[in-house]
Amino acid sequence: MVCMDQIVDKLYLGGIADPFDPTVLRDKGVTHILSLMDRPLPAQLVEGFRYKHVYALDLYDTDLLTDLEDCLTFVEDGRQHGGVLVHCLAGTSRSATVVTAYVMRLLNLGKKEALAFVRTHRSVIDPNEGFRRQLELFEVMGCKVDQTHAEYRRYVLSKMAVRSKSGFGENEVPSSIYRCESSPLAGGDTVYRCRKCRRVLFMSGAVMGHVKGQGESAFDWRSRVPANQQHDSASDDDRSDHDDDMKGEKCEVSLFVEPVAWMKGEIENVEGKLACPKCKAKLGSYVWYGERCPCGAWVAPAFHVQNSKVDAIKPQTAVTPVLPVATPLGPARHHQATPLGPARHHQATPIGPARHHQATPVGPACQHQATPLSGNQPDAPPPSVADVVSEDPMN
Ligand SMILES: [Zn+2]
Ligand SMILES: [Zn+2]
Repeated sequence: MVCMDQIVDKLYLGGIADPFDPTVLRDKGVTHILSLMDRPLPAQLVEGFRYKHVYALDLYDTDLLTDLEDCLTFVEDGRQHGGVLVHCLAGTSRSATVVTAYVMRLLNLGKKEALAFVRTHRSVIDPNEGFRRQLELFEVMGCKVDQTHAEYRRYVLSKMAVRSKSGFGENEVPSSIYRCESSPLAGGDTVYRCRKCRRVLFMSGAVMGHVKGQGESAFDWRSRVPANQQHDSASDDDRSDHDDDMKGEKCEVSLFVEPVAWMKGEIENVEGKLACPKCKAKLGSYVWYGERCPCGAWVAPAFHVQNSKVDAIKPQTAVTPVLPVATPLGPARHHQATPLGPARHHQATPIGPARHHQATPVGPACQHQATPLSGNQPDAPPPSVADVVSEDPMN
């Protein structure tokens, strides 16, 4: 059994044996213990320590992000007061993930660099693939858990799709998942209206694309990794840097959207119908655990709007003279139309299908790597209509 290792000053990473040696802990000045386990340590063992237990299994689908901010606060507190031990069973996956996240924030490192850093102090670390994905998302969110971030919402949605297979309980649909369209990016978004009453239903940013016929993983926020590679060994630090792009052809057959604000209270069953909030015309249906698109892809969760029930109003950016050249349509154009300057630049990192939808109004939250611990707010101006118009066209 490998003993605990010091990762940074006053922060130790270890396995289950370490808390059983309180003398060593006290010698090292440890005052706080954080357990990421299926059960807490016996009370007498942690007597005299500040103690926190987070229920976590070392599984691909275990969600650490939900509790991550609490964990990081606890670690920070421990370092301020003496020292902190973060441990799980072997000190390689669960606890290593939390410590790596802490190091990312503390030293302003990306996931890959932070893992390498932690590994130089504890060679055995090996977070499972699901945890690595969560660290990537943590990086994308600017080394914090930003519940309003588009990628995070999608992460939560994918977790809910899995959970829905065993049915939903009361209040199982958190209000944070609904996309708020109150401040659409002026001019840049296609607007989808109810064909019958013209009510605005959603913007193009809410449309969730998927790759044709790739099975269940196609819609998942982590879907850039084909399902059969998801349980690869640890040597994948590099791979994830190369699989950013959606592979395969984007499906144009069906319209799937994120939950939008007007669906609140309407999608709390495992499946049901979607109707226009104004005229109640039938728009489509939803199935939390997913449905098969005619293209073959398994889409989960599936909020499926019938193309025939909505009108897509394209943005009026064509104030620029119409050029007599073929307009490059399709996904590539979408990418180019989005960036609006430095504020958006980091948005290029993400994750599979979602990247097309980064047109969501973004605030400082997205400008990650900006010394997270100090809380500095970057001051790039928000994008304006003029930006969109001047940058959009057909270059
Ligand atoms: Zn309507
Ligand atoms: Zn499809």
